[in-house]
Amino acid sequence: MALKLVVEWMRSVADGVGEHDSVINSKDRDGNTIFHLAAAFKQKETPMAESDFLDLEDGTTDFGATTNLCLLGKVLNSKPLNANAITNVLNIVWKTRAAFHVVPWSSNNTYLFRFEDEADKIAILKDGPWSIMNNLLVLKGLTDGVVVSELDFSLCPFWVQIHGLPIEKMSRANAEIIGNCIGNLLAIEVSHGGLLLDRSFLRVKVEVNTNLPLPKGFWLKRCGSSPTDLWISYKYEKLPDFCYACGRIGHENRNCKFVSRETRDISGYGPELRTGKARKADTIVHEVSLTVRAADEQ
Ligand SMILES: [Zn+2]
Repeated sequence: MALKLVVEWMRSVADGVGEHDSVINSKDRDGNTIFHLAAAFKQKETPMAESDFLDLEDGTTDFGATTNLCLLGKVLNSKPLNANAITNVLNIVWKTRAAFHVVPWSSNNTYLFRFEDEADKIAILKDGPWSIMNNLLVLKGLTDGVVVSELDFSLCPFWVQIHGLPIEKMSRANAEIIGNCIGNLLAIEVSHGGLLLDRSFLRVKVEVNTNLPLPKGFWLKRCGSSPTDLWISYKYEKLPDFCYACGRIGHENRNCKFVSRETRDISGYGPELRTGKARKADTIVHEVSLTVRAADEQ
């Protein structure tokens, strides 16, 4: 490549390059000297040349590795929010031991949350989901090498309560079946005995796709002589505002593009899908590994 450039340059220098002194000052048809040529060669035009790769150092802070101290979050709202307003709201609800900093990261309501204490970051991620001014904040942990554009903010974990089951159906196996119907099952709340009777409802942690309508529940065939089937309903803990017309999170009823005005009132969605965090009970949270489950399904 370098030789080709030099040969082309020499060919194009006016009146040849016989005199050595004149080589330095000679210019080609475009007015470039040999120095211009050297500079142009350094500033390569080929983007995929092997030498274009750079080895960079990993960032660390006084408090630890950068990725361990950061979360990326997206507020599901079409209007951008102010970083100071977000900080003020989260300072009240997060109650972190050490300080955290909020930095706007891209124009689509994405923010970097930088913690000074890793324990704060872990607790915030575990206790989610969080909302800012009734808009869902979807938080994602980071691993080395990941960039924001690769993160999927449409999936958000929720604790979901399953209400209305007959007592004999309140088992761990049924919690797993129902949880897998709602979304990606992350955890099941189990008790020490076989049946889950420490509460009047089952409780599963599920990764919900916010681009789809929230599952509301299901019908259960009733055995015996009863003529009516049972409606089993879901309640999402810490669910923020969502669209009652289509059941999706991230926009209001009046901005809904998914359902016509005529059918909005018969969607069946309403505030009953929301509930607060369940009271403490004598239960154990059994985490379900998505990796293990995916392998089982193959
Ligand atoms: Zn909608």
